[in-house]
Parts: sequence; structure tokens; C-alpha cells
Amino acid sequence: MRLIIFGAPGSGKGTYASRLKSKLGIVAIATGAIFRELAKEETSLAETVKSFLELGQLVPDDIVIDVLKGRLMKKVLEGFILDGYPRTLVQAKALDALASIDAVIHLVVPDWIIIERLSNRRICSKCGEVYNIRFLKPRRPETCDKCGEKLLQRADDTPKVIRERIKIYEKQTQPLLQYYEERIPIVRCKCDSIDMPPEAVVANILERLEALDLT
Ligand code: ADP
Ligand code: ZN
Repeated sequence: MRLIIFGAPGSGKGTYASRLKSKLGIVAIATGAIFRELAKEETSLAETVKSFLELGQLVPDDIVIDVLKGRLMKKVLEGFILDGYPRTLVQAKALDALASIDAVIHLVVPDWIIIERLSNRRICSKCGEVYNIRFLKPRRPETCDKCGEKLLQRADDTPKVIRERIKIYEKQTQPLLQYYEERIPIVRCKCDSIDMPPEAVVANILERLEALDLT
């Protein structure tokens, strides 16, 4: 199965993708996490990527598409869920040339939940698992349930950069929905309560994929 999980920053893409991949036996490819790793290197590419991440702006398409190609090629046959890609029409078209997508999961989340989630978000410094200090707490404070590493706040989860990322999502990424609506089944997933357990959302997504004959 080849899926895209689509939604605003903080809509839960990473949280659900990480659960869906285990349930479906596919890999999750999260471009944001890939870039955060890449930014730690000491190369000029890393410097460039870092400068965009810090501002909450999109990494340029040519860089993103190169990175995606490298990761996707090996996974096309096994199935995958793309988290954070595509974010522009150019990226969507590049993907079309690489693989056919079975469905887009669209997470619809009100703004206030997004702000609440992003400002209280913590991620594992090692495996990237996502937590929220109010609504999705780790079992031990500041510690990853999965690998025991320390949890950190992302450098781009500050109020100013959060606002910028939401603005960019609305302007550059959201219009992509129309592109997919004309081509691929969309599983729309509305989330109006902040304490909805991720497992319930994931169960709902799986049911809907089943109804499309995809599982
Ligand atoms: P979120 O969805 O919460 O904003 P991500 O981890 O998906 O977080 O992305 C973090 C950052 O990585 C983005 O703000 C952007 O700078 C960069 N990035 C990730 N994916 C892409 C992409 N497909 N195109 C351009 N930039 C990207
Ligand atoms: Zn971890």
C-alpha cells in the first residue's frame, strides 16, 4: 500500500504515520525528520537545509525531490506512507513519476488544537517518536517510551516559527488537496477533540482504508 498522510503542521501526521506503518507493515518516510537529521551534518547542504528549518520555511523543491528519490526507490514495492511530502505541486508531480499512490489521508484539525499540540510537543532525540506533555505523555517524564532516550522540544516549535509554518501550509501546501481530489481517493479524518487517543484515530483510518479495499 502506498499512502500520503496530509495535514497542517501539528495535525498529527507523524503520530499516526508511526502507528499506521506498524499496523500495515509498510515504512514511513518523514521528510521533516530526514531533514532534521541531515541538518546535523557538517556540509554546505546541511547548512542550507538548516537555514530553512529554522525559519519554518520550505526546503527548496530540488533538494527535497532528490532526498525523496533516494529514500523512496528502495521502498516502492514494499509500500510506504509519506509524512510531510509532497508540500508543493512540483513535489507532487515529481512523485507521480516515481510511484502511484493508493490514497491520501487528510487530517482536518482546528487551529486551536494545532497551536496547543505544537507548543506542548516533545520528540525523542533518538528515534523521533512524538509526545505531548499535556495530551500524549510519556510514561516517564522527558523520556521516550520506545527507546529510553531524552525528549526534546523541536527548534521550530516556537510561537513565531509555528505561525510561519501554518501560514506556509495554507498558502503552498493546502492547495495540493485539489490536485489529489481529482486523482486519488481521499480519506478525510476530522479531529475536533484534543484528547482523542491516537489509537482511535488510527482505527478509524484503517476502517476507511478497508472500505476502499486497500487493506
Ligand atoms: P510539521 O509538519 O510539523 O511542520 P515536519 O517535520 O513535517 O513538521 O517538517 C519540518 C520542516 O521540514 C518544515 O517546516 C520544512 O522546513 C521541512 N520540510 C519537510 N518536508 C518538506 C517538504 N516536502 N518540502 C519542503 N520542506 C520540507
Ligand atoms: Zn525514542
